[in-house]
Amino acid sequence: MSTVQGRLRIAVQKSGRLAERSLDLVRDAGLRVVKGNNDLLYRVENYPIDLLRVRDDDIPTFVADGVCDLGIVGENVLEEGRNGGPMAEVVMPLGFGRCTLKIAAPPALDYAGPASLQGLRVATSYPRVLRRWLEAEGVQADIVTMRGAVEVAPRLKLAQAICDLVSTGATLEANGLAARDTVLDSQAVLIRAPTAPEPALAELLDSIVERMAGVVASQG
Ligand code: ATP
Ligand code: ZN
Repeated sequence: MSTVQGRLRIAVQKSGRLAERSLDLVRDAGLRVVKGNNDLLYRVENYPIDLLRVRDDDIPTFVADGVCDLGIVGENVLEEGRNGGPMAEVVMPLGFGRCTLKIAAPPALDYAGPASLQGLRVATSYPRVLRRWLEAEGVQADIVTMRGAVEVAPRLKLAQAICDLVSTGATLEANGLAARDTVLDSQAVLIRAPTAPEPALAELLDSIVERMAGVVASQG
């Protein structure tokens, strides 16, 4: 059974770049969201639905495990969570949270394509996505995994290049780096559990998905 006490659960980022737009989507789909007793759980007052507010990194696992029925998360996070185990299913792209995972390096590094990374160290917070991309390109490079501040790695000589999320490029520029290649174009996606909810909630789940699709379509 995927849900607790006859209620659907939707996992959304608690705070951060996706938090507000995720809540907007839920509201625009007709769900009246009210704060619960704690920060972790918001209730929907007009349907048996709760919003679980968590770190975005936890969302793919919660949905893959059926702890939540739906989730809103960046493709970058979903792809990094891919580990050969059961996966949440992507229902649709949502048109916000756009960013690109890019290879960047100081201008002094000659870059003529992925092969230029051969034998170098590349710092990233997305080691699995980078590993798969390098493998697909037939390039062997050392991956230095960093939780944050990836853009300072070249200056500290931790790595010769980085693989990091970029939206405007301002952070790269501020750190004397130039974007060189695209590893993954990302946006927020709606994901659903691979297992169906309890039968009494299945129709509700489908209708929520349909309404969200309507909202997204209307935003063109
Ligand atoms: P959490 O506390 O939930 O773990 P976080 O710090 O990992 O948050 P945010 O910075 O809030 O994550 O970004 C959430 C998502 O927003 C990213 O995973 C990505 O999909 C998207 N995003 C859009 N633009 C950017 C950007 N310029 N930099 C980073 N992420 C971006
Ligand atoms: Zn995160």
